[in-house]
Amino acid sequence: MHRSSIAVIGLTLALVRGSALLAQANPLLSPEERAVARTVDVENARTLALLQRIVDINSGTMNFAGVRRVGDVLRVELDSLGFTTRWVEGSSFHRAGHLVAEHPGPGPKLLLIGHLDTVFEPSSPFQRFERLDDSTARGPGVIDMKGGDVIIIAALRALKAAGVLPRMNVTIVYDGDEEDAGTPLTEARRALIDAAKGASAAIGFEDGPGDPHLAVISRRGDESWTLHTTGTPAHSSQIFQKDVGAGAVYEATRVLSEFYRQLSGERYLTFNPGLALGGTAVKLDSTGVAGSAEGKSNVVAEQMTVVGDLRTISPEQLSRAKQTMQAIAAAHLPHTSAELSFDAGYPPMAPSAGNRRLLTLYDRISRDAGFWPVTAVDPSKAGAADVSFVADIVPMKIDGVGLSGHDDHTTQETADLRMLPVQTKRAALLLYRLSVKSPETSH
Ligand SMILES: [Zn+2]
Repeated sequence: MHRSSIAVIGLTLALVRGSALLAQANPLLSPEERAVARTVDVENARTLALLQRIVDINSGTMNFAGVRRVGDVLRVELDSLGFTTRWVEGSSFHRAGHLVAEHPGPGPKLLLIGHLDTVFEPSSPFQRFERLDDSTARGPGVIDMKGGDVIIIAALRALKAAGVLPRMNVTIVYDGDEEDAGTPLTEARRALIDAAKGASAAIGFEDGPGDPHLAVISRRGDESWTLHTTGTPAHSSQIFQKDVGAGAVYEATRVLSEFYRQLSGERYLTFNPGLALGGTAVKLDSTGVAGSAEGKSNVVAEQMTVVGDLRTISPEQLSRAKQTMQAIAAAHLPHTSAELSFDAGYPPMAPSAGNRRLLTLYDRISRDAGFWPVTAVDPSKAGAADVSFVADIVPMKIDGVGLSGHDDHTTQETADLRMLPVQTKRAALLLYRLSVKSPETSH
C-alpha cells in the first residue's frame, strides 16, 4: 500500500543512520535512553521468539481457550516485570475476557492498549508463523496485533533493565475481543474504560497504516442505524391520492435522498445504506445482515427497512449528523411514517490538541533516535479501534505505533521485521519521556 522503492530506500538509509547514531552514543539521547535502546537491540531475538510463540497459538475471537492461552503467555512476562496482573472474565459479554496489568509508580499514569484476539478462527487455513526472509514473516495476527503486544513487553523489559521502570505508572489492557467485540458493548469495554481513568496518555499498539512514518491520532467512530418506514396499502392505481399517499418505499427513498443531499458534502462524515428491504411485508433477520421482502408492482408498499452505518470524526459531528437525520426522518410524505434508530458502536476519536502534542513528542523521539519524522495519518484511512473508547477520558492518545507490515485481516498478513526493534525503541522512549522527563505533559 505505502511502499514505493523510494520510500524503501529512504527507510533503509534511515535505519543505517539510526544504528550508527546509537552505536556512537547518539547525543540526542540521554545515557538512560541509550541504555534502553541498546537493550532493545540485544533482546530483539528474544522478542521475535515471543512473537512467533503467540502467533502460533490460534486466538480467533471466538476461540476463548486460545485467547486465554495468549493472555497467559503475556501474563507470565508481565508478572516477571513486577506488574500485578488479572484476567477479567468475559462471560457477561460472551467473549473470552481481557488481561489487565498494573504497575503503580510516581510518574503520570500511562495506558497501553493491545488485543489478544485475531480474525482467524481455528477453521481458517492460516495458523502459523512463517519466516519469509531476513526481514519479513507472515502469520495470523503477526501485525494485528501480536506484534504490538510484544512491543509493549519488550519496551518495558528495556525500561526495567535501564532501571527506570520503578518510576513509571503503567496500566496495560489487552482486550480479548477487539476484532468482534462482545455484547453488551458497555460491558465488553468496561475494563478498558475503568483502566483509562486518571491516565494522562493512552497508546494503542495497533499496526496502523503500515507505514512507520505515520501514526494515528484520530479515528472515526462507527455507529449503525435502522430506518423503518410504513405506508398505507392500497391498489397501486390509487397511489398519491389523498387517502393513500406515497407508500413506504417512497418515504424511505425520500429520507435517503435527503441524507445524501444535506449531509454528503461534509468532510469525514459518511453514512452508507447497506441493506434495503421494501414491499408489502419485510423481515430483517436477527443477524441484521439478511432478510426477506415480498410485494407486488400493483400494491402500494406498506413497509420498508434500511440498515446502514454512520462514521464521524468527533462527538460533535456525530450528534449534529444524528439530529439532521432525525429531522429528515420526521418530515413525512402523505400517509407514511418513518422511524430512525441508532445503535452505538465505536465512538469517534477526534484529533485533539492533546493527541497532537503526543504525536509531536513521538515524532521528536523518532528523529532523536536517528529514525525519521512521523506525521498523522488521514483519519478517513484509519479504521475503528479500541483506543477510541477512551477518547473522551484520556487527554493524549496515539495509536498505530505497533509492528508495521501489510495485508492484515488476510492470509497474506506480513510483518516488516526490520521495524520490530525500531518500533520497540520508539515505544520505550515514548514511555520514558512521558514518565521521567515530560515538559510536553506538564501544560
Ligand atoms: Zn487490531
